Amino acid sequence: MTSNASCIFCKIIKGEIPSFKLVETRHSYSFLDIQPTAEAHCLVIPKYHGAKLHNIPDEYLADILPVVKKLTKVLNLDQNNTPDGEGYNVLQNNGRIAHQVVDHVHFHLIPKKDDATGLG
Ligand code: 5GP
Ligand code: ZN
Repeated sequence: MTSNASCIFCKIIKGEIPSFKLVETRHSYSFLDIQPTAEAHCLVIPKYHGAKLHNIPDEYLADILPVVKKLTKVLNLDQNNTPDGEGYNVLQNNGRIAHQVVDHVHFHLIPKKDDATGLG
């Protein structure tokens, strides 16, 4: 992997900052978001430091969506015929104007449940 010593997500991959790990593969790492916008808000990141999607080699990107899909299963979001009030967003921001805060590519998986938690 390529790494940046001052990047918080690189530190999370290396275990230098604690995280609630979900799924780890050779090319990716996923964990719970520290400030969830919904219950079980997850992040999936490549084990390659790059700020924007176009900076990440294909072999790393190819690992990400299968993990997102696996997490939909882990979180029981993978049911068909779900009621209208349930679903999920997959979100990936690039650049400040697009609401990116952490400059290490990450995919958000945000469960959406119309369950009055006050979140999401
Ligand atoms: P962005 O706006 O860059 O797409 O989203 C960055 C996300 O990273 C935010 O949802 C934020 O809560 C999350 N985040 C920032 N720092 C940390 C951290 O140290 N640990 C975890 N688990 N999530 C973080
Ligand atoms: Zn990084």
